[in-house]
Amino acid sequence: MVAEISKGEKILSPFPCTACGKCCQNVDKSEQTKFLDRGDGTCYHFDENTKLCLIYENRPLVCRVEQYYQTYLKEIYEWEEFVKLNLDICQKL
Ligand code: SF4
Ligand code: SF4
Repeated sequence: MVAEISKGEKILSPFPCTACGKCCQNVDKSEQTKFLDRGDGTCYHFDENTKLCLIYENRPLVCRVEQYYQTYLKEIYEWEEFVKLNLDICQKL
């Protein structure tokens, strides 16, 4: 269920991330995230022990699925469609 709010942003259902950390270990596979690659495909800011982001509160926009969508893609994809595209990628990592 998606609704428009006054700023032109959509109210979105949360992205169903399982926090598996695979996207953070494959940043070399996307033009949008390869600047984060520490050299082996894993992000500089990924904590291998906890599988969490060390800069979560300050992570780049590209790592914020909902905000990235609102900023660049809300006119291109429906949220449900974008979620499905992302989940397909998550499953292939
Ligand atoms: S690969 Fe997908 S499910 Fe796993 S942490 Fe990244 S966004 Fe979440
Ligand atoms: S900045 Fe954080 S959320 Fe983004 S890829 Fe690196 S570890 Fe993952």
